[in-house]
Amino acid sequence: MTDAAELRRRTQEFLAAHPPASTARTDFLRARFDAGLAWVHFPEGLGGLGLPRTLQPVVDAELAAAGAPDNDPRRIGIGLGMAAPTILQYGTEEQKRRFLRPLWTGEEVWCQLFSEPGAGSDLAALGTRAVRDGDTWVVDGQKVWTSSAHLARWAILIARTDPDVPKHRGITYFLCDMTDPGVEVRPLRQITGEAEFNEVFLTGVRIPDDRRLGEVGDGWRVAQTTLNNERVAIGGRRLPREGGMIGPAARTWRERPELRTHDLHQRLLTLWVEAEVARLTGERLGQQLAAGHPGPEGAGMKLAFARLNQEISGLEVELRGAEGLLYDDWTMRRPELVDFTGRDAGYRYLRSKGNSIEGGTSEVLLNIVAERVLGLPAEPRTDKDVAWKDLAR
Ligand SMILES: Cc1cc2nc3c(=O)[nH]c(=O)nc-3n(C[C@H](O)[C@H](O)[C@H](O)COP(=O)(O)OP(=O)(O)OC[C@H]3O[C@@H](n4cnc5c(N)ncnc54)[C@H](O)[C@@H]3O)c2cc1C
Repeated sequence: MTDAAELRRRTQEFLAAHPPASTARTDFLRARFDAGLAWVHFPEGLGGLGLPRTLQPVVDAELAAAGAPDNDPRRIGIGLGMAAPTILQYGTEEQKRRFLRPLWTGEEVWCQLFSEPGAGSDLAALGTRAVRDGDTWVVDGQKVWTSSAHLARWAILIARTDPDVPKHRGITYFLCDMTDPGVEVRPLRQITGEAEFNEVFLTGVRIPDDRRLGEVGDGWRVAQTTLNNERVAIGGRRLPREGGMIGPAARTWRERPELRTHDLHQRLLTLWVEAEVARLTGERLGQQLAAGHPGPEGAGMKLAFARLNQEISGLEVELRGAEGLLYDDWTMRRPELVDFTGRDAGYRYLRSKGNSIEGGTSEVLLNIVAERVLGLPAEPRTDKDVAWKDLAR
C-alpha cells in the first residue's frame, strides 16, 4: 500500500468497523493503534504501516471529519515526542511491544528524568548513580524540573553507571517505573504560580536490567535521539497560519481598535511576518523529518520559537495596557498541559519565559547551531578526557 487513496480507504474501513459515536474512547484508540493508523511511519505491529510520515495527515483528516477522539497529544507530549522515537530506535522488540501502545493511547504518561541541580546545560556531568546488583540496577540521586512527573507512570532516565571514565562515556539510559518504591515527586512552583514541573528524588530505586535502553555506557548517544526529538517537539510543531502565539495578539489588534498605536502596529506587523516565516520553516523541517531522523537543525527552530513567543507575548501585554497586567489565577495548580492560547495574556507572557530554557537554553542551542550546522570552531572543552569522578564540582 503506497498511496494516499489506499490509506484513505483503509481509514474509512476502520471507521466503519469502529464507529466513533458508539465505541469507547480507549477502545477506539487501542484499535486505531492495532490497525496501524496511530503513526503510519512506525513499523507494522507497532502502531504503524511503515509508510512515509507525510501520509499521516490523510488518516488524521478522515478521523477528524468523522468526529473520532484523538489521543490528546499535548497531554502526552514527552511520551510521543521524546520517549517513543528513542524506544523505537534503541528498544528491544519486547520493550517496543510493552511500551509503545499505552504510550500512544495516553493510558501511560511519560516524563523525562534528565536535568539535575548540578547538571542542566552540562547534562553529561550528571551525578545520579546506577549500580548493578545482579539483574537489577540500584538508582540513587536527584532530578529537577521534571515536567509531568506527578502524572507519569514511566520516565526516561539517564544515570551514571561508570564514574571512572570521562563524563560522556559512563552514562546509561533506563526506563523507570514512577510507581516503584524510592521514587518521590515534589512540586516546584514556577513564575506562572503553577507547578507543571517537579523535583524527583530517587532513593534505592531498583530497575530491572531489561528496562535498560541501549548498551551499558552508551546512554549519552541514546540521549541524543531524545534531545534532538525534544527540540523538534517543542519548536517544530506544524501549525496553521496564526496558530501560535501570534494568533491571540493579532486577534486583540483586530477586535480592540481603541488599543492601537502606530508604533505597536509596526512591531506587530514585523512579528507577524517573522512568525509566518518561522511557521513555514517548521513546515519545511517537518518535510525533512519525513525523510529521516531529526538532526541539529531542530535547534534553530526551537531558538526562533522561544524568541518569538517572548517578543509577541510582551507586545500583547503592552498592547493591553493596565489590563495586560491582570492575571487570571494565582492558585497553585498542577496543570496537565501548557495552554498558550486558552489562557490570558499575562499567562502567555510569564510562561513563555521558560521557552528559552526548556529543552536546552537559547545560548546552548546557539552553540549547537554554530558547531554542528555552521561548522564553526568548537568551544574549548578541557574536561573531555578527564574521568567524571575527578571533575571539579
Ligand atoms: C518549563 C521547563 C520544563 C522543563 N522540563 C524538564 C523535564 O521535563 N525534564 C528535564 O530533565 N529537564 C527539564 N527542564 C530543565 C531544562 O532542560 C534545564 O533547565 C536547561 O537545560 C538548563 O539547565 P539549568 O537550568 O541547569 O541552567 P544552567 O545550565 O545552569 O544554565 C544557566 C545559564 O548559563 C548559560 N550557559 C550554560 N552553559 C553555557 C555555555 N556552554 N555557553 C553559553 N551559556 C551557557 C545558560 O544558557 C543559562 O543562561 C525544564 C525546564 C523548564 C524551564
